[in-house]
Amino acid sequence: MNEHPETNPPPNFETGGRTCSLLSVVVPCFNEEEVLPKTYPRLVKVLDTLPVHAFELIYVDDGSRDTTMDILREIQRADTRVRVVGLSRNFGQEMAMTAGLQSTAGQAVVLIDADFQDPPEVILKMLDRWRQGVDVAYGVRTQRDGETLFKRKTSNLFYHIFNRFADIDIPLDTGEFRLMDRAVVDAVLAMPEHDRFFRGIVAWAGFRQEPVHFHRLARASGASKHRLKNRLSLAITAILSFSLAPLRLATWLGLFSTGLALSSTLYALGLRFLTDTWISGWASLFIAVLFLGGVQLVLLGVLGEYVGRIYGEVKRRPLYLVKERLGFTPAGPVSQ
Ligand code: UDP
Ligand code: MG
Repeated sequence: MNEHPETNPPPNFETGGRTCSLLSVVVPCFNEEEVLPKTYPRLVKVLDTLPVHAFELIYVDDGSRDTTMDILREIQRADTRVRVVGLSRNFGQEMAMTAGLQSTAGQAVVLIDADFQDPPEVILKMLDRWRQGVDVAYGVRTQRDGETLFKRKTSNLFYHIFNRFADIDIPLDTGEFRLMDRAVVDAVLAMPEHDRFFRGIVAWAGFRQEPVHFHRLARASGASKHRLKNRLSLAITAILSFSLAPLRLATWLGLFSTGLALSSTLYALGLRFLTDTWISGWASLFIAVLFLGGVQLVLLGVLGEYVGRIYGEVKRRPLYLVKERLGFTPAGPVSQ
């Protein structure tokens, strides 16, 4: 391990374009004791070969309940380029990434998972794009190993629903793995919302964004930290924070049932006055009442989701709390 990156022989800088004096790499970790000892050496090995003057590796411990923090403490003690932000509890991946970004000082910042589903070798390609003037080089998965058919299908469904209804588009098959220019990181950090859907926020920011294709591998070890419930709640957050379409649903359904009511009234009146028969029985009435009751309750629920989120935002609590910070010099980046 090289303790003094500034004494490295300068790697290949000759392609021109932007030069990076400091690259920040942010890795959120939640119960990753099984993968960290394997993935840290490989990550550093790759980072050492990059055409940057120096790098900082920022691990965020998202309130892990295993020995992740102890492992990170040990890694940090042996390598001065590593910094650790320990959160006070599990705040979720979106907040862990925000905490990491808030601690970066680099001109370019990479977000990468701890489990090596995102191969670090791809960072070189992303950096090349950045040096040519691209502000966000985001990873697009051409193939996804180790993921169930159910996970692939549901995430596909999510992208389609999101892009159909949201005010912004996010590219298919992207995750958090990406390299961002400082300007984009600052823009993202200037957005104070608690309901954070990171991919959406970055897409909203604009700038010059381009894909870098890669083959997503299976987890190095351990299981995914996102349960179905978390994925579902992130999907709902994503849609509600970038779309008012669910609210408009009330108007459309209202128009539809008013139209239905008017035409059935005309039909019933026609039958009554123009023929000898008329509509009898309770079934149609019962169905109509149930249908309208159901629609109103569902829409009340949708309204409640938005109101609940507004409540969450107006409380203005901090996005996360930091318990411990290791490896940051007093003059270095400060938290929050
Ligand atoms: N993660 C986190 N907090 C959480 C859940 C996950 O920081 O509450 C981290 C996790 O350690 C990993 C990354 O987010 O580095 C992606 O998580 P995971 O691999 O479980 O997600 P998947 O790849 O299955 O989408
Ligand atoms: Mg993963």
